[in-house]
Amino acid sequence: MLRTSVNKLFKTGIIQLSRRQYAAAAAIPDPITKPDIQCDKIFINNEFVDAKSGKRFPTLNPATEEVICEIAEADKADVDIAVEAANEAFRLGSPWRTMDASERGRLLNRLADLMERDRTLLASLETLDNGKPYNIAYAVDVPFSIKTLRYFAGWTDKIQGKTIPIDGDFFCYTRHEPVGVCGQIIPWNFPLLMQAWKLGPSLAAGNCVVMKLAEQTPLSGLHIASLIKEAGFPPGVVNILSGYGPTAGAAIAEHPDVDKVAFTGSTEVGKLIQQAAGRTNLKNVTLELGGKSPHIILSDVDIEEAVETSHFALFFNMGQCCTAGSRTFVEESIYDKFVEAATERAKKRTVGNPFDPKIEQGPQVDKDQFTKILGMIESGRQEGAKMNCGGGKAHDRGYFIQPTVFSDVQDNMRLAREEIFGPVQQILKFKGLDEAIERGNNSIYGLAAGVMTKDLDKAMYLSQGLRAGTVWVNTYDVFPQQSAFGGFKQSGIGRENGEYAFNSYIEPKTVIIKVPQKNS
Ligand code: ADP
Repeated sequence: MLRTSVNKLFKTGIIQLSRRQYAAAAAIPDPITKPDIQCDKIFINNEFVDAKSGKRFPTLNPATEEVICEIAEADKADVDIAVEAANEAFRLGSPWRTMDASERGRLLNRLADLMERDRTLLASLETLDNGKPYNIAYAVDVPFSIKTLRYFAGWTDKIQGKTIPIDGDFFCYTRHEPVGVCGQIIPWNFPLLMQAWKLGPSLAAGNCVVMKLAEQTPLSGLHIASLIKEAGFPPGVVNILSGYGPTAGAAIAEHPDVDKVAFTGSTEVGKLIQQAAGRTNLKNVTLELGGKSPHIILSDVDIEEAVETSHFALFFNMGQCCTAGSRTFVEESIYDKFVEAATERAKKRTVGNPFDPKIEQGPQVDKDQFTKILGMIESGRQEGAKMNCGGGKAHDRGYFIQPTVFSDVQDNMRLAREEIFGPVQQILKFKGLDEAIERGNNSIYGLAAGVMTKDLDKAMYLSQGLRAGTVWVNTYDVFPQQSAFGGFKQSGIGRENGEYAFNSYIEPKTVIIKVPQKNS
């Protein structure tokens, strides 16, 4: 049986799967609601070990607020050991450095095979720990993570430098070498996918990794650690730690023996990471940060389709997407009709137990996010935006929030300026393309934007004018592993996915050899 909400996503064409994957999604197996996995240890040198301090912290099921299990709390002492292991694995002449490039690709594909084998378990862990609907975790998060690893596996033996005709009697070529030991700090909204986006390009390029999982959602990442060992990666190539940001995360960002740090999370913490890199060893930094993306709806659209797409753009993943289309700009002449239809759509959104196949929306990830979102809703009320539906807690237990729609939102309100990261849609009225561009760009962020129109000239004009790393036209949240994703302005530095991400894990080395001009 095809689960309801996945079906809806396929229908709007937003989730672009092959026919084979579509058929596979039609037969989603029952979840494993009490999984048996190693979760109270960290993964260093291919071994699961206790955190040095012996400290642990609980990870909660956000749908029930119950403790799932106790997690090892890594801090600086563990980061030091993991970084040493990664540097040893990166040593010249080590098994990893002498491995054929094609063999690295085989290992990444083997990891992807094991994830396919454990797909039900991985999807169940995502739902338990993060609260996302199980059918989405199964049909989207896990297969897209697998596709990412397979895509980067294909890059391993296609890393080619250049021969460059420089002036003088020289032969000049470049070697594309790995950067070294990469610290990777990932967030909780797409735990598996963010892990794959970071592991794929870094390992394909031959780097070693020390990764810190988000404290809210360590379970799936810890299971991936066991698969890394099973796949046959040499010890120390990938080290995976659970722990908190200001301790373990900061220790990675400050470590003098880490060559690069790749971070996904808030703009606020992104700034701290860059400062730490500058204060210590000037490590290479890539950042994928927050957003406040404009979604611009022109008056020539099919309203039903535009409402469904803008609803998805905001509410997908409980609104916990850095790309969330959180400023829905609607052209004046269809504004009233659109607001009414968007409100009706939000009222129909089903909220509840994320293991229930009929629901579209699970809980927010934790109490902090839940409280912050309710605070933002309150600020909207106080600043005079019109609340069309929702506005409060959805169930007695768990971090559920009612799908909320605000209209008559003004550009200077907090609702229109700050990232909410929750199921709260803001609808704003505009007139004319230039106004849409100017107001759409009126943000410290520039991660993504969306445009809906049937007029190709207008679509081209808007996509050229919007200052954002990705512009979707008549669709939203399509993240192909083959193309670049990242932000303008304070949404980040560098790109995830595609050749652009791969290149950020490469150091080009120029070699210049003197060529004798006569035969002596
Ligand atoms: P959010 O607000 O969405 O939770 P954060 O930016 O706080 O996003 O967290 C994203 C990741 O960054 C998590 O793995 C978190 O533990 C980590 N993190 C938080 N604070 C720091 C810090 N000061 N240094 C390094 N990493 C951090």
